[in-house]
Amino acid sequence: MAKNILHCSFCGRSRDEVRILIAGQEGHICENCVDHAREIIEQELMVRDDKASAQSAFKLTVKKPIEIKKFLDEYIIGQDEAKKVMAVAVYNHYKRLQYKATDTPKDEIEIEKSNIVMVGETGTGKTLLAKTIAKLLNVPFAIVDATVFTEAGYVGEDVESILTRLLQVCNYDVAAAERGIVYIDEIDKIARKSDNPSITRDVSGEGVQQGMLKLLEGTDVLVPPQGGRKHPEQKLIKINTQNILFICGGAFDGIDRIIARRVQTNTIGFNVDKVQQDSMKKNLLRYVNAQDLKAFGLIPELLGRLPVVTHLDPLDASTLRAILTEPKNALIKQYMRLFELEGIQLRIEEDVLDFMVEKAVEYKLGARGLRSICENILTDAMFELPSSKEKYFTLDLEYAQRKFDKSKMSLLKVA
Ligand code: ADP
Repeated sequence: MAKNILHCSFCGRSRDEVRILIAGQEGHICENCVDHAREIIEQELMVRDDKASAQSAFKLTVKKPIEIKKFLDEYIIGQDEAKKVMAVAVYNHYKRLQYKATDTPKDEIEIEKSNIVMVGETGTGKTLLAKTIAKLLNVPFAIVDATVFTEAGYVGEDVESILTRLLQVCNYDVAAAERGIVYIDEIDKIARKSDNPSITRDVSGEGVQQGMLKLLEGTDVLVPPQGGRKHPEQKLIKINTQNILFICGGAFDGIDRIIARRVQTNTIGFNVDKVQQDSMKKNLLRYVNAQDLKAFGLIPELLGRLPVVTHLDPLDASTLRAILTEPKNALIKQYMRLFELEGIQLRIEEDVLDFMVEKAVEYKLGARGLRSICENILTDAMFELPSSKEKYFTLDLEYAQRKFDKSKMSLLKVA
């Protein structure tokens, strides 16, 4: 009899009409209604997520310059000057956005965009700096390499596909992309080959710089959604670049000579020893300005749209040592965690860290090399330990030296 009375409290179907009837405190629900309810929940959550993400794209977490710098300090060692300049530029950029959004300025003062150029040897933290800023601001961030672009009509990618990358990282959310940050790496590689404008076409250099002008100044740009070349049949997406912050970086090899010439330092010569030269070079980069970049081969129109110029210092041994252990996600911390997840406590002796730095300097590998050095030293341990019963692993100098000498890296030695 009870069987006849039971029915789904939602759709009213009786026990005979359904396959499963789940009992609640004062009612029942059938499998059809559970399914239906799940669909409603999914849809509802999706709508809310969409709303939230649309809002979050607009809701910038803008911090004061000092706070921005503090945040950068957690991830990046040294480079104080670059951090400060970036913090101010980014802060002003987003203040400018808010100013536009809220005020109707009567005096028509228009705050211009503060796109940035960073000059510094490779591996000194340019990309890391740009990436960390984007993380802090919660905006889409794309890294592109200037060398893949060519002037329209030539083999290679159109400059517009810089924006494709930005669109891709935010799932084609145009509004979010329009407030994003783009890091253009190796901007020095598209420098004009000589200071004199040439009459012959310069496909890889000046032409690309000309193409970039349009993006940097802030106009509507039609972007191929899949990147690459524009195809007539491809539906293009319109993006306004007015509020996109462009950060360019490059090593600008040899710019120190240009700066030296300008600041009339004649001491870089044949009889200056290497150490002195390196410290000179470090000091010289501090004086870099738009004029030097122009002499290097960036066209004045482009430089006009990159008003903030800053530099990164070369990394010395003590900075490399700090990079190994101090940043929030320092390499050594990462390895410790990897071992910990395996239930093994990793202990690394201090002189091993010195050894790693020594090798990075000796092999001229910079901060990027630290990772490969660690890998080479620890791979055997990471291969064997998960299958053993060990609970501790101490990495001492003898072990590190032995593994490093055995690795392919030791063959890389530069004379
Ligand atoms: P760049 O763009 O200047 O060629 P990157 O930012 O890609 O160099 O740096 C390469 C790697 O080296 C980074 O991912 C980071 O691990 C490390 N690194 C470089 N400079 C620093 C620094 N100043 N502080 C912390 N880590 C650094």
